[in-house]
Amino acid sequence: PASPAERLKKNRQQARTHKMIQIHETDITTLSVDAIVNAANETLLGGGGVDGAIHRAAGPKLLDHCRGLGGCRTGSARITPGFALPARFVIHTVGPVWKGGQSGEAEQLRSCYLESFRLAEESRIKSIAFPAISTGVYGYPSIEAASIATQTMLEHESDFDVIIACCFSAADVTVYETALGRKPPAPSN
Ligand code: ADP
Repeated sequence: PASPAERLKKNRQQARTHKMIQIHETDITTLSVDAIVNAANETLLGGGGVDGAIHRAAGPKLLDHCRGLGGCRTGSARITPGFALPARFVIHTVGPVWKGGQSGEAEQLRSCYLESFRLAEESRIKSIAFPAISTGVYGYPSIEAASIATQTMLEHESDFDVIIACCFSAADVTVYETALGRKPPAPSN
């Protein structure tokens, strides 16, 4: 009989073969998953980028609901209904603003993913999609951010039916494929 450690290893290998972590190039607001994650700001009152898109697609009830939450610290997360979105829930997390990498940005970004997964598990969420948190207006370098994102996804893949890395450009798809070891890195000259 296999030891718990052996079984865990086998589960992990199976999860990997089944590619529970999927990379999609799409608008995250279109995804019919249990939860989509929002790269919000500390006010939780909406903004540009993916935050603006999520509020537009969810409708004004999302903003009304967020007003009652009193904001969210960087690295933390809050869960709300998805209102008019196809997703049942939105998990709002506040990524760090990139200040050069020496201000705890990596720990804060990792915390965004971990807190989002924690809330998802509490709500029995089985399918979840993440945007590339902090890599837009907040300026976090994409490759470093994807390394943190995919690491936390691999740590949680056995707890979900599917985890989607939702990319908004073909370039980001390549970054995530490389981070997951699914594609050799482009040759450097
Ligand atoms: P942040 O302030 O955390 O940097 P942004 O919204 O500016 O957040 O960008 C985060 C990432 O989300 C970027 O990679 C951006 O291209 C992407 N993005 C923007 N709109 C959408 C969308 N509708 N669906 C998925 N990803 C999006």
